[in-house]
Amino acid sequence: MRTAIISDIHANLEALKVVLGDIADRKVDRVICLGDILGYGPNPVECVDLIADHCEWCLMGNHDFGALYEPTNFNVAAEQAAYWTRTQFEREANAEAASRRWEFLGRLQVRVGFDNFLCVHGSPRRPINEYIFPEDAINSPVKMQQVFDRVERFCMVGHTHVPGIFTDEPDFYPPDDLEGRYKLNDQEKAIINPGSVGQPRDLDPRASYAILDGETVEFHRLEYDIEAVVEKIYDIAELTNWLGDRLREGR
Ligand code: ZN
Repeated sequence: MRTAIISDIHANLEALKVVLGDIADRKVDRVICLGDILGYGPNPVECVDLIADHCEWCLMGNHDFGALYEPTNFNVAAEQAAYWTRTQFEREANAEAASRRWEFLGRLQVRVGFDNFLCVHGSPRRPINEYIFPEDAINSPVKMQQVFDRVERFCMVGHTHVPGIFTDEPDFYPPDDLEGRYKLNDQEKAIINPGSVGQPRDLDPRASYAILDGETVEFHRLEYDIEAVVEKIYDIAELTNWLGDRLREGR
């Protein structure tokens, strides 16, 4: 079974299309999404439609929650983007398309389990909002212990927009340290983060996703037309220009 894992699209249609095209070329059995389809980017409606068409299921991210229900703990730019995002769905003139989208967004899940995996957007103890940062492996051993206590074998998270593997040592390995692939094993628990499709924050601006093939995780990076997205963000008053600028730097 080959499962493509995508996360944190953030309404970046150009990046999502490139990633879905690459996934189609690599012949996977299914695509799953760890949340945050929405927020920050200029094409929330189109991205929801693509995710609804291509993904077996999708989790609820904090930005999906923010646009759907209410923004919690957002900075000013993110809150403004959340309100703007909501209006994009409310503007839909076609009642059937609108209700199909609201219904899909209403079904976003907080947790999904399959085989030996628990999947959440943020962390096993606070699934929508808690971050598991790479530096936590060094700076916060107690937090990591509490997180891994809630993981039976393996876990998948998004939310930080930084790809890599956490082990219960605790340790963190970016894809470059693993030559792009990691074999899950019986000796350790592991948490997989596929990185972000639409707003990478590991100083590599390329779109990020992963494929789980049996017990092996492969990380993939793809270039896309960043400037096209930046232009759209600049043209939307409610989306601050920094949201475009950061895409160029991957931060
Ligand atoms: Zn996110």
